[in-house]
Amino acid sequence: MSHVIGIDLGGSKIALGLVGPRDEILARRRIDTDADAGLDSVVRRIAVEVDELQRALAPDESIAAVGVGAPGPLDHIKGELLTLVNLPGISNTPFRSALSARLSLPVALDHDAKAAALGEFHFGAGRRRDSMIYIVIGTGVGAAIIYEGALLYGESNSAGESGHMTVDPQGRRCHCGSRGCLEAYTSGPALSRAYAAISGDIISGGEIASRARAGESKALGVFHEAGRALGVAIASLAMTLNIETFVIGGSVAKAGDLLLGPARESLKGYSFQAVSARLRVVASELGEDGPILGAAALARRQLQV
Ligand SMILES: [Zn+2]
Repeated sequence: MSHVIGIDLGGSKIALGLVGPRDEILARRRIDTDADAGLDSVVRRIAVEVDELQRALAPDESIAAVGVGAPGPLDHIKGELLTLVNLPGISNTPFRSALSARLSLPVALDHDAKAAALGEFHFGAGRRRDSMIYIVIGTGVGAAIIYEGALLYGESNSAGESGHMTVDPQGRRCHCGSRGCLEAYTSGPALSRAYAAISGDIISGGEIASRARAGESKALGVFHEAGRALGVAIASLAMTLNIETFVIGGSVAKAGDLLLGPARESLKGYSFQAVSARLRVVASELGEDGPILGAAALARRQLQV
C-alpha cells in the first residue's frame, strides 16, 4: 500500500488529506473552493496544497495517486464534471485530466456521495458489511449504494438519486419538478422552510436541532416529519434491495437521533417485519474524515495503488 491523497471538493471548501499505507490521515489542508475563478485556478490551488502535503513524506516516499469526490452530476468514466448548479465556474470541464496533468499523477474522480460511502464502508459505520446504503443529507440529499462490495452506478449513471424518490405522492413540491421527494422533507433548506412555516422564524437546520434538543415542540415536530420521510425512503430501498445497513451522513445527520429515531420508527410501517427487524439505521462514524478517506479508497480501487 502506498500514499495517496484524498480530496473532498465541496461547494464552498476543498478538504485534502494525505492518507498513508495503513489508511490513516497523516496531514490535512483546507481551502476555499472559489469555483468562480474557473478550472485552471481551482486546479492550480489544489496543486499548491498537494505540494504542501508532500512535505509530510519521508525523502524515500512518494504519492501514488489522487482521489477526488465532487458534486454531481459528473461522468466518472471520462472524468468530467457536468452541469453543477452550485459550481458553474467549473461546470462542464475535464476536471480529472486537468488535475492529473498539473500533478503528473493518476487521478480518480467520482461523485462525492460515492466517495463518502466508500469511507464509511471500509473504515466507518459500514465496515464488516458486504452491502450498505449511504444517504447524505445536507443542502441536498443523495445516496450511494454498495452492493456486495461494488458501487452501483445504474444504466445511465444515476443510481443513488434517492433524494428524489417519492415519499408522499401528494406531498410538497420539489425544485426538481416532482412532488413529495425525500429532499423536500429532509434537506437543511427543507427543515428551515418547514420550521418557518409554523413558527415564523427563519433559522438553520443546526439551530432547529438545538431548539429540538431543548425540547421545543415545533422544532421536534419538524425533525419528526423529516425522520418519517426518511423512514419511508429507507423502507422502500430495503424492500427492493434487501440491504440492511443504512448510514446517514451530511450536515443534517449531525442531528443524530432527532432525525434517526423517527426514521427507525416509521420504516416499520412501510416494510415487512422480517426486513425492518434487521435494518440498522446509523449516523456516519467518520464525519468530515469520511469523504477524504473514501476519496483515497476510490483512488486505490480505480487505480490499483
Ligand atoms: Zn425532487
